[in-house]
Amino acid sequence: MMIETTCIILKPDCMEKRLQGEVIRRFNEQGFEIVGCKMDRLSEEILKEHYAHLVDKPFFPEIVAFMRSRPVIFLAIRGENSIATIRDLLGPTDSTIAPKGTIRGDFGTDKMRNIAHASDSADSAQQELRRFFLPEELFI
Ligand code: ADP
Repeated sequence: MMIETTCIILKPDCMEKRLQGEVIRRFNEQGFEIVGCKMDRLSEEILKEHYAHLVDKPFFPEIVAFMRSRPVIFLAIRGENSIATIRDLLGPTDSTIAPKGTIRGDFGTDKMRNIAHASDSADSAQQELRRFFLPEELFI
């Protein structure tokens, strides 16, 4: 078990549905701590970087439009095994197959509108925290 910091994005559908509090409550309930928090609108440029593995997919323009449709909230969440645990709390990408009790299963709509992003590995957590936060914005 390791103390890790993971990077979360509360996506536009989470913002629109006023689910920010509920999602953060589930993280807190697991004993995780917020060590970074900010709000901003994503640029197309940063989305191309963040979703580099999807840029060539036919649905990529739709993802960009969705992710830019409102400002989002970025969180840095710290705690034991936080990267894998928060991915489990979210559930699979496709909300329609995500089990009830997971964040995406309870509140998501489909493959794209799935409430939140969470880093999937220690490497991506490190990259994403660097991408979305200035060093002085993290209280680690
Ligand atoms: P995850 O967010 O679960 O790590 P991916 O990295 O595969 O999943 O995809 C990133 C995001 O791109 C998803 O969360 C979702 O918003 C969007 N996405 C992925 N696959 C699709 C798809 N087939 N159609 C529409 N949007 C998708």
